[in-house]
Amino acid sequence: MFENYKFTAAERFLRYVQIDTQSDPQSSLQPTTAKQKDLGKLLADELKKIGIADAHMDEFGYVYATIPSTTSKKVPVICFCAHVDTAPDCSGTGVKPIVHKNYQGQDIVLPDDKTQVLRLSEYPYLQKQMGNDIITASGTTLLGSDDKAGVAEIMDLANFLITNKNIKHGTIKILFTPDEEVGKGTAKVDLKKLGADFGYTLDGGEAGSLEDETFSADGVQVVIHGVISHPGYAKGKMVNAMKIAGHILDALPKDRLSPESTEGKRGFIHPVRIEGVAEKCSIDFIIRDFETAGLKKKEDFLQTMIAETIRIFPNVTFEFHVTEQYRNMKEVLDLHPQVVEYAEEAIERAGLKTKTESIRGGTDGSRLSFMGLPCPNLFAGEQAIHSKLEFISVQDMNKAVETMVHLAQIWEEKS
Ligand SMILES: [Zn+2]
Repeated sequence: MFENYKFTAAERFLRYVQIDTQSDPQSSLQPTTAKQKDLGKLLADELKKIGIADAHMDEFGYVYATIPSTTSKKVPVICFCAHVDTAPDCSGTGVKPIVHKNYQGQDIVLPDDKTQVLRLSEYPYLQKQMGNDIITASGTTLLGSDDKAGVAEIMDLANFLITNKNIKHGTIKILFTPDEEVGKGTAKVDLKKLGADFGYTLDGGEAGSLEDETFSADGVQVVIHGVISHPGYAKGKMVNAMKIAGHILDALPKDRLSPESTEGKRGFIHPVRIEGVAEKCSIDFIIRDFETAGLKKKEDFLQTMIAETIRIFPNVTFEFHVTEQYRNMKEVLDLHPQVVEYAEEAIERAGLKTKTESIRGGTDGSRLSFMGLPCPNLFAGEQAIHSKLEFISVQDMNKAVETMVHLAQIWEEKS
């Protein structure tokens, strides 16, 4: 199917990464930075050139497009989604991508800052890239494969399907979003307009990886009310709320239930912010667990622990406020097992082994899943993201395109 096809993902990628699309966590605009629209507009134009008539970018920087169905069957509408912005953690201005052809395991020294060296010993995934063409930045910026790899791959998918109309598939939607890196990627998305039944974000790492699980997440705010009096005459009366906060933080388990002591499937209770005066002090926590029921257990544990800690201080009270943040996408995906099953089959058809992973965090996919678009995360090939050593191989990008083509076909076959 791909023997005579000249993949365009890498060529597109090399152009897209040179467009600065860094998002800004401090901004209240939508998109948070206007420059993200530079890429959005280019993508809409290129989609039109490919032959997708309805491609357009809206006022918020979202790009929507439809690849028309090539089958008479009624097939669920699937969507491929990627984000155009890059992370605020590392500069995305003046990215100079470099292709290192036929990688043979050597150290890759980045020319604009020779202290930036990509070494096989530090990035074992490079072992799987022998003979491949590796793309890096030049040493002073990130590369932006997170997620311009996903963007370029979806663009190539559109190019492939439009030029190979003999491939049978249902209606396929394309969605490019701004501001994923600052947690606002779904803020202004119009799912009704998109009109898809199921989605896949293309924003993962290793070729063959498939992420169908995220944390479930709550926030907890604890407000401690101390007892205040004039410090000169406070003997036997004053209880300082900040000192109580110190006791509470000290009472947290030290060898478990924290980000620094857990990995894999274990969740945690994590204080992220403290603010106060002697009279009143608040501590913000984030609570994480793969089981939503496990959140409640951790919250009960925390509340009981605080109650016990302050019991010995007369007249001190506390408030305990829980707010929902996001939920494990698996709760939604389990209701539609075919979404993940078909993705696994597509990965195998592309000649890869499926590696199912869970994300110790949240994604736009988890938000989209609960907004009504069940949406696991497929690999895009991105590596060492948000850093100057970020890299990706051309071959992994092409495998992502192949996987999407197979996925589109599988949905049609099974309908
Ligand atoms: Zn990303």
